[in-house]
Amino acid sequence: MGIPGAMSQATGLVKNANSTWLIGKPLKEDLENALARPVRLENDANCFALSEAVDGTGKGARVVFGVILGTGVGGGIVIDGKVLTGANAIAGEWGHNPLPAPTAADLPHPPCYCGRTGCIETYLSGPGLARDHEKTTGQRLTAEEVVSLQGQTLARYVERLARALASVINVLDPDVIVLGGGMSNVARLYTEVPRLWGRHVFSDRVATRLVPPAHGDSSGVRGAAWLWE
Ligand SMILES: [Zn+2]
Repeated sequence: MGIPGAMSQATGLVKNANSTWLIGKPLKEDLENALARPVRLENDANCFALSEAVDGTGKGARVVFGVILGTGVGGGIVIDGKVLTGANAIAGEWGHNPLPAPTAADLPHPPCYCGRTGCIETYLSGPGLARDHEKTTGQRLTAEEVVSLQGQTLARYVERLARALASVINVLDPDVIVLGGGMSNVARLYTEVPRLWGRHVFSDRVATRLVPPAHGDSSGVRGAAWLWE
């Protein structure tokens, strides 16, 4: 099962879920009791990255960074076909880092449910895109409607995504970055973001490929099944 958030290795309780009602709950234990069978639980972005790394657009790549750009922003890392969970079960969780190299247009930093301000998620989630559009135009639209306008709000989104992914490349240097979640359906991300991220990457050239998912924006449900491989 893929969930937004992670299971605390210290307590066995859910943490970091943007579905905040899961936080502090023994979800795995509750499910195992209700189903009378073992359950494997992983972060949804980790499941997504696994699905695409095993037999999706990341197939054959050694290091895959899977990104969820949906109601929240998450990330997962798969190396040699295996999920990297990490010492704190947060490997790849870039969504609550601050947006790098902020400009005047990024201010004031939006508040985040996590208690911080200016988190990447507050700019790059679907609701974040809609909020940015309302802030600058006064128009209340859904993220889908903002995308269909193909205007300045989406241009700002593209440039922010380039900055945010450049910081991932500088740390992890993945072969492939695969996008998931509703925003991964925006075709221009795959051409425009790689044109912009170079100025923030500490390298003469960027060989990392930015690709759409092979198994759709909800590819993570497949990855959850791969947890039993
Ligand atoms: Zn946050």
